[in-house]
Amino acid sequence: MSPYGLDDREWKGLEDEVLELFTSILRVDTTNPPGDETACALVLRDYLAANGVPSTLTGELPERQNLVARLEGSRPGPTLVLMGHMDVVPADEGEWSVPPFAGVVKDGYVWGCGATDMKNQVAAEAVAVAHLARSGADFAGTVVYIASVDEEVGTHCGVRWLCEHRPELIRCNYLLNEGMGGLWLPVDGRKVVLLAVGEKAFAQFRIRTRGAGGHGSVPEKERSAVIDLAKAVVALGLYDPPASVSPMTAALIDALVEDGLRERLKDPATAREAARDLRRADPEVAGLIEPLLGVTFTPTILEASKAVNVIPTHAEAGVDCRILPGMSLEQTRALVAEVLDPLGIDWRFEWIDVTEPNASPAPTALSESIARVLCRDLPDAVLAPMWSASFTDSRWVREAFPGCVAYGFAPFPGESLRAMQGGRDHMPDERIAVGDVTYQALFFERVARDLLA
Ligand SMILES: [Zn+2]
Repeated sequence: MSPYGLDDREWKGLEDEVLELFTSILRVDTTNPPGDETACALVLRDYLAANGVPSTLTGELPERQNLVARLEGSRPGPTLVLMGHMDVVPADEGEWSVPPFAGVVKDGYVWGCGATDMKNQVAAEAVAVAHLARSGADFAGTVVYIASVDEEVGTHCGVRWLCEHRPELIRCNYLLNEGMGGLWLPVDGRKVVLLAVGEKAFAQFRIRTRGAGGHGSVPEKERSAVIDLAKAVVALGLYDPPASVSPMTAALIDALVEDGLRERLKDPATAREAARDLRRADPEVAGLIEPLLGVTFTPTILEASKAVNVIPTHAEAGVDCRILPGMSLEQTRALVAEVLDPLGIDWRFEWIDVTEPNASPAPTALSESIARVLCRDLPDAVLAPMWSASFTDSRWVREAFPGCVAYGFAPFPGESLRAMQGGRDHMPDERIAVGDVTYQALFFERVARDLLA
């Protein structure tokens, strides 16, 4: 007997179907920038059409078309969107042990740029929709499949564009997309499986320092924009903002952290120090918990003189700052001032990119369907709601359609987050276990059937 209640022949058939589609789309180079996702959308369109599912291409640019397919049930009911982005980040081929756009299957893994972020889910969701269509299953409501563009760079012509220009195609009650959800950690013989219900927001800003310009041959120590910027970058980069621990973060700490550190992490007064200990003891869990303790300041861009012999009058740093709900932009800016004012430097502040954090509630009918299917297939699994530290397209959908429940979730039943050393997105040798991507197709079909029963 194969896993998950299928017989060997059914499992092998599913695996073959998933691998054929998955490797075909991995072979289409959708590196963003520039994107060029339309060729990938056409592969998906042909596959869906061969399974009796018509789809539409739509978008702002001909080479960057989103694909949308709808499957209507036999009775009225809610709309479930299964979504994924087709674009991938640039791959440095020299760092890879296989060509990143060859769709290689070896050693039990599928290798390629996008193997976990997130052509796996794009392929698995398409196969789930095709199976639903072929089976002639009776269900309520509507299943919508969306393969979108431009998530990694701009979201200008992808999901945000769909929400603004073609809302009738994407409006929904429930949505499954990427996030950290579906990754898991082993704790006391159980699998604690993350469910991403929300995400932190961008509050990215620029710090500009001013000083006296001059010739590089005559040092300027009192009023140097470069030296002052360096002080600002060090102060912000090493700053530990005040910690806060929401009830959801406390529950996540209870689910993931060992006894010894648990109480110290949940107490805002000791959380920062405890997080440092956790980082040494368990970097994967620390990577999940630490961003949920509050605002983060990560200096990423430095700009000053273009010539080595010129002391510039200005220098700039870009800071990737992410905030939790409940923190306003004004509070963020005030906190920056609290860090920089004591340095006695001449500094200016400017926002680069800001969004509002948003989240969906849990439990809901969708989280209950996920839990039911998962616990039937993986009896040792337990769901743990959390917020993703990074951005996903789900936030556009939550904002456009208030009341829509959007989660990040794609289960990896075989490999834990620890086995993946914190995840493989945006990394050389990005790969996924064949059994994991095959199960994802089965899972999305089962969740759709359960939710829309
Ligand atoms: Zn992604």
